[in-house]
Amino acid sequence: MSEWIKITLTEDELPKQWYNLNADFPAPMPPPVDLEGNPIGPDALAPVFPMNIIEQEMCTDRWVDIPQEVLGIYKIWRPTPLYRARRLEEHLGTPAKIYYKNEGVSPAGSHKPNSAVAQAYYNKAFGIKRLTTETGAGQWGSALSFATHLIGLECKIFMVRISFTQKPFRKIMMKVWGGDCVASPSQETEIGRRILEEDPNTPGSLGIAISEALEQAVQREDTRYSLGSVLNHVMLHQSIIGLEAKKQFEKVGIYPDVVVGCAGGGSNFAGMVFPFLADKAAGREVRIVATEPAACPTLTRAPYVYDAGDVAMMTPLLPMHSLGHAFIPEPIHAGGLRYHGMAPMVSHAMNHGLIEAHAIEQIECYESAVLWARTEGFIPAPETSHAIAQVIREAKRAKEEGKEKVIAMNWSGHGLMDLSGYDAFFEGRLTDYQLPEEQRLRSLLCLEGLPKPPAS
Ligand SMILES: *Cc1c(COP(=O)(O)O)cnc(C)c1O
Repeated sequence: MSEWIKITLTEDELPKQWYNLNADFPAPMPPPVDLEGNPIGPDALAPVFPMNIIEQEMCTDRWVDIPQEVLGIYKIWRPTPLYRARRLEEHLGTPAKIYYKNEGVSPAGSHKPNSAVAQAYYNKAFGIKRLTTETGAGQWGSALSFATHLIGLECKIFMVRISFTQKPFRKIMMKVWGGDCVASPSQETEIGRRILEEDPNTPGSLGIAISEALEQAVQREDTRYSLGSVLNHVMLHQSIIGLEAKKQFEKVGIYPDVVVGCAGGGSNFAGMVFPFLADKAAGREVRIVATEPAACPTLTRAPYVYDAGDVAMMTPLLPMHSLGHAFIPEPIHAGGLRYHGMAPMVSHAMNHGLIEAHAIEQIECYESAVLWARTEGFIPAPETSHAIAQVIREAKRAKEEGKEKVIAMNWSGHGLMDLSGYDAFFEGRLTDYQLPEEQRLRSLLCLEGLPKPPAS
């Protein structure tokens, strides 16, 4: 049975509930707080999110029912296949068995619609007519445009300026699905105009784009904001990935020794690994590995602090590993995963020793991505290449040690809209880049004076 290349599930086997790791943490997470350090209640979030999502954000139930309408849309591409990377194994000559969950088969090409559809559904159910959001390379913006169109909402997207100019195709995808996308910082908001005045040539950042989207969300009663990663409810929606993967492994009677995912804000990683962490919390031995870019190293080099999710500090303070809300990654880094913070749930798992993390430089990532495409066929997103690079490291180590281990990975999305990064790689325009220590320290200065989370 374990000789299969593609392990599929039937529509009937699609999980009907999401899994919430908040029920199984060894200690509860510190709450979000205001600038004085006081825990914030649901009402403080009400201008930004609909109450049904706020309840989910604070929920500690282990299982949450997936609404019928969401399941109906999931069925367009779910359950996603779990593949065995046979040709890569052979190329590496490794005794390891490599499995990957292909989230690139969704309409938007990544895992992101798993949460976009759910968020659009809950907003619609709450009577909201319009969603605002930010997007970096454009994956979240396109996922939310797709989801809002199917559910029946309007969608406004602030896209980080440098990507807006460098990645025109995602912008067009959003338009195809009816989304309205502008470059951020824009002239449409207070904060956007202020930042453009200070620095007309700014490349923009996710933190700035979030501030713009929030500003517009709180201005209109029929509008709320939607975030594609980081928050607890997003981790919950993404758990469908790992729940399916576990069923698929069960079908062939194996269990992974190590599960790998790339981590930007943490959602695809959490989605894949949290259901396995449930087993780990119950005593099962399994290594869980997050990988991130050396250019934006939140899990490996950022302190655990209370920080805002956006540059204007409009969000509550979240307990997370963060490089500081004012962090702007270098444009030289082509691989995405550029957010300044890491999901509080992923940060909490890290602090409790449930997961390990590694930072990887971009040349190794692109080399791994090209090797992947030339063996397995699918061209990965630059973000996904961070997970692939780690899988290859693990597979090579298994070869050295002569160990037959099972490696599982979340293949978070395809790179067909990110070919310019590959072009830069082939033309030798990419170099390795580690966030310089001096810049890291400078970036952390914006955290001074903020309350501190309890050490865990
Ligand atoms: C957005 C994205 C990521 C990073 O976001 P997470 O919230 O960390 O998952 C990773 N891979 C792909 C393909 C993406 O589109």
